[in-house]
Amino acid sequence: MRIKSLDVVHRNIPLKMPFKTALRTATEIESIEVRIQLENGITGKGAAAPTWVITGDSTESIQAALLGPIKQALMKQDIYHFRSLLDTVQACCVGNTSAKAAADIALHDAYSKLFDVPLYQLLGDRKPLKTCMTIGVDTPEKMGADAKKWVAEGFNSLKVKVGSQPEQDIARIFAIREVAPVEVTLRLDANQGWGPKQAVQIINQLEEKYTGIEFIEQPVAADDLEGLKFVTDHVNLPIMADESLFSPKDALHLVSGHYVDLLNIKLMKCGGIANAWKIASIAETSGVGCMIGSMMEPAHSVGAAAHFAAAHPNVIYFDLDAPLWLTEKSLVIAYEGEQLNLSSKPGIGQV
Ligand code: MG
Repeated sequence: MRIKSLDVVHRNIPLKMPFKTALRTATEIESIEVRIQLENGITGKGAAAPTWVITGDSTESIQAALLGPIKQALMKQDIYHFRSLLDTVQACCVGNTSAKAAADIALHDAYSKLFDVPLYQLLGDRKPLKTCMTIGVDTPEKMGADAKKWVAEGFNSLKVKVGSQPEQDIARIFAIREVAPVEVTLRLDANQGWGPKQAVQIINQLEEKYTGIEFIEQPVAADDLEGLKFVTDHVNLPIMADESLFSPKDALHLVSGHYVDLLNIKLMKCGGIANAWKIASIAETSGVGCMIGSMMEPAHSVGAAAHFAAAHPNVIYFDLDAPLWLTEKSLVIAYEGEQLNLSSKPGIGQV
């Protein structure tokens, strides 16, 4: 069953509210969708979003990679060589992880539709998924108000962005802890905003004052692995790598050197589900748990991440709230408060 065509569509999706982290503020996202059509008419859909400050991919570079080397590698190929095709996508150019993720997602969508099963079934399991909700970095008062709102809407886990004006970080957690009952867990994400010693100092203070913090994500610069290890070795709370982790090879290095306690997998960083599966398995072998996260992305690629997370036994934390920030309704994941419901239609599906 050969691949007959590959097309790309680009559009902007406004956010309901600005998304603020220590790295950037976004008010809309760009969605690049790829459609791979098989000769029997089945269409596999993938999607990506550019994040200059994390992956280095732009709208133009994602489109160029999809319509250039990736299209060239996939056209007229037989989808029954599915595994080889996934490898071909990774090998056809250097970098370009977001474009590769879009193609990998489209291939997974098409292949599961060919067998008439939802993607989680092709991947082999379906555990229930609950997402945390992100509180963007802001004044303590604003973050406290946001936390109160989301707790009232049924979220029992909040992902709190810190690391921008770090001197305010303790006050931010104080403001959130005042309104979020103790059973609401907090996941802190500094997005590289702290120095190693500063991170240890802040985390030690947090450990003394507050309970219910699950882990701290990417305290220091992505390329400062020694700094990351310094933090991991000098605090009790688990430390998670996000921007320091792209490929399965990065995962192997991070877990074998005990740089961190946990890994945050995102399809846009690793190039899709095939590599996400490898990362989660490498971590599993080393006893390191994984979270599935996403960028500010279209619902379709977050849906693909959710199918992967539902199926892989070592994905134990879920951070898949991005579609709730978009002005358009998610057709792929149905949200009931913090609970995610995947479609049981073939492929990534439509709810
Ligand atoms: Mg992060």
